[in-house]
Amino acid sequence: KVCVVGSINLDLMVQVDHAPAPGETIMGQMLGKMPGGKGFNQAVAAHRCGASTQFVGQVGADSDAQHLRKVCAQIGLSDRYLRTNPKAPTGTAYISCQTGGENSIIVVPGANEQLDLTQLPHALSDADLMMVQMEIGPQAAKTAMAISQHLGVLTLLNAAPSRDVGSEHLALVDILVVNETEAEDLGGFDALRQAGPSLIVVTLGANGVMWAEHDGPAQTASAFPINAVDTTGSGDAFCGAFASALASGHSIEDAIGHASAAGALTATAMGAQTDNLSSENIQAMISN
Ligand code: ADP
Repeated sequence: KVCVVGSINLDLMVQVDHAPAPGETIMGQMLGKMPGGKGFNQAVAAHRCGASTQFVGQVGADSDAQHLRKVCAQIGLSDRYLRTNPKAPTGTAYISCQTGGENSIIVVPGANEQLDLTQLPHALSDADLMMVQMEIGPQAAKTAMAISQHLGVLTLLNAAPSRDVGSEHLALVDILVVNETEAEDLGGFDALRQAGPSLIVVTLGANGVMWAEHDGPAQTASAFPINAVDTTGSGDAFCGAFASALASGHSIEDAIGHASAAGALTATAMGAQTDNLSSENIQAMISN
């Protein structure tokens, strides 16, 4: 069983020729509303990979929240610990996708900022692993890990964004997952191996992944060869699948394989939460 604590947004995506200059009004096309937020993406991925998953997050009392709850119902992910904060709007990401693939993004965190963790101990009952990211702010991420550690639940920190990660965070982490940029921000792979976590995983996009257990040798795995269409959310799918595999008792090496397949599957379709993500498709990719 996996418990994911984190951000949930409604992503508003619009296709544009170029980013608007100051004072300029431009026309966009194809307004899309998609569920997002690293926390929610990872919870959906863990759920789709077969883990019994609880998501602890917060939305406002608005129509965006209703939309996101409907998404949960459609995919069968519980919204029991998705709290409504009547005083803040649901988190929103405004994403303009420029022709050529470059994105400009404005995030309004809204309800993600005052995440209430009162229910976390309930959500953690019977959990094998608690996974959190930094989009809910440094203090909430730290509190979530401290509560989990106190209850003897394994902690996984996806240190994204890496800006506010301090030694007080790393001291509470059992498993750290970062991408290449985040690893650099935190002092590099070798420095991280000297810090608190007993397992460090660094994802390297199309170059695969490297990891090391405390005092163990560094190991690597290549990425699955695919035609990448949109790599948005690959890192989140990786984390969700990794947590799901570890919680169900797979070895680290096997879990890395599942996670890499999930990252690759997500890169083969548009959007951060792709519905091609399933344990069947992961198995098919691994055994191919
Ligand atoms: P993030 O999105 O957080 O920057 P990465 O880009 O490192 O994360 O992607 C996470 C994982 O997803 C990678 O380790 C890899 O296994 C998989 N992945 C990402 N991009 C590709 C790709 N182009 N081809 C195959 N696998 C990919």
